[in-house]
Amino acid sequence: MDFTCPVCNKKLPREILVIVPHTEEHIVDEIKKQHPDWATSDGICERCYRYYKNQMGRK
Ligand SMILES: [Zn+2]
Repeated sequence: MDFTCPVCNKKLPREILVIVPHTEEHIVDEIKKQHPDWATSDGICERCYRYYKNQMGRK
């Protein structure tokens, strides 16, 4: 079963779907800024998650 990552629009295997934890609200906010229709429960792919995590770490 594949899913389409709402952030990078790539079709990916479900195994790498990441649900961003609510404790990481800063990441959730950043994704929503760029993708207003995205909901936390939609999840993102592992690559995007790492990307946003890195972005946040740099600030
Ligand atoms: Zn992605």
